[in-house]
Amino acid sequence: MERYAVLPPGVPASRFARALAGFRAAVGDEHVLVSPEELAPYVHVMLPFDDDAFAPSASVSPASVEELQAVLKVCNRHRVPVWPVSTGRNFGYGSALPATRGQVILDLKRMNRILEVDPVLGTALVEPGVTYQQLHDYLREHDIALWLDFPAPGPLASPMGNTLERGGGQTPYGDHFGNCCGMEVLLGDGTLLRTGLGGIPGTKSWQAYKYGFGPYLDGIFTQSNFGIVTKIGLWLMPAPPAHLTFLAMWPDDDAVARAVDTIRPLRYDGTIGNFGVLVNDALLMTSFHRRADVYQGPGAIPEAAVRKVAATHGILPWCYLFSLYGRPELIQLNTRVVTEALEASGAKLIAGIHDPMQVNELTLQAFSLLNWIGSGGLAWFSPVAPCIGAEVAKQNRLARSIMDDHGIDYFSGATLNGREVLNVMPMVYDRSDRESVQRTRRCFEALLTRFGTEGYGIYRTGIGFMDRVAELHGATLLGVNRRIKRALDPNGIIAPGKSGIHPLAGRS
Ligand code: ADP
Repeated sequence: MERYAVLPPGVPASRFARALAGFRAAVGDEHVLVSPEELAPYVHVMLPFDDDAFAPSASVSPASVEELQAVLKVCNRHRVPVWPVSTGRNFGYGSALPATRGQVILDLKRMNRILEVDPVLGTALVEPGVTYQQLHDYLREHDIALWLDFPAPGPLASPMGNTLERGGGQTPYGDHFGNCCGMEVLLGDGTLLRTGLGGIPGTKSWQAYKYGFGPYLDGIFTQSNFGIVTKIGLWLMPAPPAHLTFLAMWPDDDAVARAVDTIRPLRYDGTIGNFGVLVNDALLMTSFHRRADVYQGPGAIPEAAVRKVAATHGILPWCYLFSLYGRPELIQLNTRVVTEALEASGAKLIAGIHDPMQVNELTLQAFSLLNWIGSGGLAWFSPVAPCIGAEVAKQNRLARSIMDDHGIDYFSGATLNGREVLNVMPMVYDRSDRESVQRTRRCFEALLTRFGTEGYGIYRTGIGFMDRVAELHGATLLGVNRRIKRALDPNGIIAPGKSGIHPLAGRS
């Protein structure tokens, strides 16, 4: 009899064996992986927890909705939980791994068809396994002048996975969920739902009109375990006639509040076309240096050490990378407007910077961050602030002092979106050192507690922290989420624990 490294909770080996036989019948033997060696490529926790906490029991890869439906039937029959991933590149949030031990990874990479691209409307309909690289290549090959908006793991990741996580990028279409239109979702009870206008036979406008009729449901399938999304509609940006990227830099540490208050009106009236990213000098420096070359003393890297090395590259303490898009005359006019406003706030402005993510070019450069220490430890602490300078500055002071207390280097990369700032703070730590893992975890938890006390929420979080983050957002919200979960997935088989939603918790 086959030996299993891990069994799903409450599922005896004999029942698991029957489930595996069912999976094999549904998708073919070679698309069901069980041994620890076969499953090893999925294990990239990166977060400050033991690998073992999230060990999967198997992986299964269907190639079509029909195969997926057969897999789901097996799961329901044998009460085996599955964790869907599209490409599984959710780096620093858990990659492909489930929130709890023993789930089967439902790897949707083989469902990778680009179902439709409408060059006139600027829309696409794709399956989960389609990567940004694949869609980018398709647009090139077909000479379609539409841009994609890439998240940090760019070429490797999927529009599906990143949109469902409500990820973001750096063009005017940077709000990925905001630019998605229509989904097909397989619910836990086997229902195949099309949201928006997707339910109308011969629908003409599924990817054109988001809201459909009645309650607008798409949001409940993001950062969620309410269903397995099998198709997603995307809005793509018409390639702009011209664009120009700038780097604004402020010389003083207190500049962050002034920077936010200066940028806000330029964002809201559409002068600055994208979120841009407001980064501290330490984060920019990771593109040039490894930590050991810059600092080898105890504790977090001191600001003075960062300043000294950053200065050799001409980097000032706070930097904002942003772009203008549109007709050349408009860019000329807006260049004058942003120059005047930013210089009046004390910034030095450099025009003509090349930042691939802002102009539809695939890159993995954001992950040069991982070379800073080099052992693959990464956890994103990402609080949300209102787009008010004093609030962002307060968050930064708080986070920096808590990170200092725990000996964690302070990096900040904030995006200025609608009325909010997603104040993303990557924590890079030594994953090969047990003490450093534990210290980073304590630090993350201390940050959550303190930010919760101060009235701040969290944009997105990784496995291992989901329960704590869900708790922070209120028991009523979590209770309603659990009720929806039970209604749509009565056996609780899709991704238990995702966003803190444990289907069986609290059941009487
Ligand atoms: P990426 O595009 O970055 O590789 P992933 O495939 O890792 O994204 O997905 C990130 C997370 O989003 C997963 O861990 C899972 O919780 C959720 N997810 C991804 N794809 C689906 C899907 N098709 N249906 C439901 N949830 C999904």
